[in-house]
Amino acid sequence: MTVVTRFAPSPTGRLHIGNIRTALHNWMWAKKAGGTFLLRIDDTDAERSREEYVESIRADLDWLGLTPAGEARQSARFGLYETRFAELVAAGRVYPAYETQQELELRRKVLLGRGLPPVYDRAALKLSEAERATLEADGVRPHWRFRLDHAAAIEWTDLIRGPQKFDPGTMSDPVVRRADGSWLYLLPSVIDDIDMGITHVVRGEDHVSNTAAQLQMFAALGAEPPAFAHEALLTGSEGKLSKRLGSLGADHFREAGIEPQAIVALLARLGTSDPVEPLADAAPLIASFDFARFGRAPARFDEAELAQVNARIVHQLGFEAVAERLPAGMDAAGWDAIRPNLSSIAEAADWWQVVEGPVVAAADVEDAEFLRAAADVAATLDWAGDPWHALTSALKESTGRKGKALFLPLRRALTGRDHGPDMAALLPLIGRERAIERLARGG
Ligand code: GLU
Repeated sequence: MTVVTRFAPSPTGRLHIGNIRTALHNWMWAKKAGGTFLLRIDDTDAERSREEYVESIRADLDWLGLTPAGEARQSARFGLYETRFAELVAAGRVYPAYETQQELELRRKVLLGRGLPPVYDRAALKLSEAERATLEADGVRPHWRFRLDHAAAIEWTDLIRGPQKFDPGTMSDPVVRRADGSWLYLLPSVIDDIDMGITHVVRGEDHVSNTAAQLQMFAALGAEPPAFAHEALLTGSEGKLSKRLGSLGADHFREAGIEPQAIVALLARLGTSDPVEPLADAAPLIASFDFARFGRAPARFDEAELAQVNARIVHQLGFEAVAERLPAGMDAAGWDAIRPNLSSIAEAADWWQVVEGPVVAAADVEDAEFLRAAADVAATLDWAGDPWHALTSALKESTGRKGKALFLPLRRALTGRDHGPDMAALLPLIGRERAIERLARGG
């Protein structure tokens, strides 16, 4: 079996971290099996769907490296839905219903008031031909419901949640089409999953009860259902589903200096029994990806953890991978010297500024003589070798200073800072001229 997965966002907003996770897992599952990952734009709701969101979804997936092998748009597939809908109507699996929202709401309240589950009573199924004709003649347009088969138990083995069982007798026949002819999500999704040969549906656990109804739709349309994996939702670091998570999208992360590889590495493992590892290469993450490793408890997304993973990934990135994003003049030696100190690539510019100067250093008075001596030694060094080692050894010898007293005044004078990249790597970049000048100024 060739695995085919799809990520099916509605273009009614930008992708947030939860959607990104769903997209990633669909992509990984397909990749792992050498299968196909597709993008399906769920834009049946013309009013709320926006072209700009379609574009941002494509761009975000691209940035993340989750490029789909193909794209389908529901708004271009209404003809197919019409055909399959007509089949279900002819088979009596979809029926017209004429209740208004208010009527339905009232019935719900009555049932709830009696302590009964608010299940639709199928009154529309009991209408006679004549009653229907009267309603139609009065201009009442029906909406359409899928008739659940109460005799067929609904069961599946979810790849994450294990065995699932629903009693269709306790469920309302779902509305699949509105009175104005527009489609609700449930049925077009099933028609597409069949038509696109989807083998695995990976989505959030908020869809579990939809799956129960959709399984009967697959059967009614004469198709084998795909396998399902319903993921526990993400929660914020404060432990509950937060508004904030819904607003964290690719843009936010990009601006925060987060690399796509960090998002992939974290989300590949979050909620699984495997540790999060800062792997810049997705291949080992894909190889170890398995729905069986996911737990049913909500997964906690913590931006601080993402930042940590990000820093460790930045440290692994080679010059070639980042060259375009580095400040002018910064070469491979510069990148290699500086990257162990970065938490984002953008910070490279700060350190490059330190290399190129000017740096503002406030030397302690008691270090003045020491720094003068350092400037003199610096002038005699072989700058092609290891000037930092040569400089500090010579000064240790001549002044008797060691440890912090030896290193810190030099670092301060040379970089204007107390901390930073390894001086042995940094000093050759600063170079003879600038180094002597900075040391002399401190002296
Ligand atoms: N458009 C649906 C959503 O965003 C798709 C759900 C599914 O994957 O079937 O929730």
